[in-house]
Amino acid sequence: MVDSAPTTEAAHTPLLLVRDLDVVYGGAIRALHGVNLVVREGSIVALLGANGAGKTSLLRAVSGLLAANNGSIRQGSIEFAGASILGVAPPKLVRRGIAQVMEARRIFAELTVDENLKAGAHTRRNRAEVQTNYDRVLTLFPRLAERHKQTAGYLSGGEQQMVAIGRALMASPRLLLLDEPSLGLAPLIVEQIGAIVSEINRQGTSVLIVEQNAAMALRLAEYGYVLANGVVAKRGTRDELMADSDIQEFYLGDGARGAVDYRAMRDGFRAGALMPGARP
Ligand code: ATP
Repeated sequence: MVDSAPTTEAAHTPLLLVRDLDVVYGGAIRALHGVNLVVREGSIVALLGANGAGKTSLLRAVSGLLAANNGSIRQGSIEFAGASILGVAPPKLVRRGIAQVMEARRIFAELTVDENLKAGAHTRRNRAEVQTNYDRVLTLFPRLAERHKQTAGYLSGGEQQMVAIGRALMASPRLLLLDEPSLGLAPLIVEQIGAIVSEINRQGTSVLIVEQNAAMALRLAEYGYVLANGVVAKRGTRDELMADSDIQEFYLGDGARGAVDYRAMRDGFRAGALMPGARP
């Protein structure tokens, strides 16, 4: 584990820089404390952790959705492409290049695939750009090309996840925030979604992916953070995290097989057994 910016990432510009972030709900419930995180331009970063660790709260802080959930930033800073984004409204953040695919795939179930995708482009004025993005999404997701006129609510879970990711891509994001894209999907579909996330990244979009499926996330990401009880408990390159005995035991071991024994992990973190000596 390293305590400074890893040299493998040093060549890239920080696209997202989160510093010393404290998030509270209802003015009292602390969800994040002193969190530091970097997403370099062009990279995929994984955010791992048990239920309630604070992963979604971190995404909400970046995408401006904390206030809508009765949450607020008590301390710290968030910079995107070198400028502070604290207090910037969500539609402006989308225009600046941050798009979030929310947990549970909040697509418009009663609209068609096409209508969902067009809704994702509402911040874009340039018709040619919208058409290019639409073509790109249907090339990335041939299943959606086949079903583009169908009502989204009747699609399978995997296809709905594709609609959600496709809709976010319609906004031409520089940074894609993915909240649990594998949730509730069969292993084969998880593989497909993973391959598409890789391809999206290869085409130039940086990705911050929240996952409980650590095996999937660490296959994709070059760098990862583990949140526990609102603090960064571990961080490192994919190889460092894969080689970490705690990560292997709680995320990747024989017992876990890609899933996680969250109770054991939570208890381990609570007991302090998994807390590293150094924090970012
Ligand atoms: P999960 O995988 O279960 O979504 P998570 O790691 O994303 O977990 P968060 O959803 O960020 O964790 O939750 C962090 C803490 O903040 C938890 O204690 C949770 O109960 C609390 N919390 C989250 N959202 C709210 C809210 N809208 N109001 C009050 N407390 C909240």
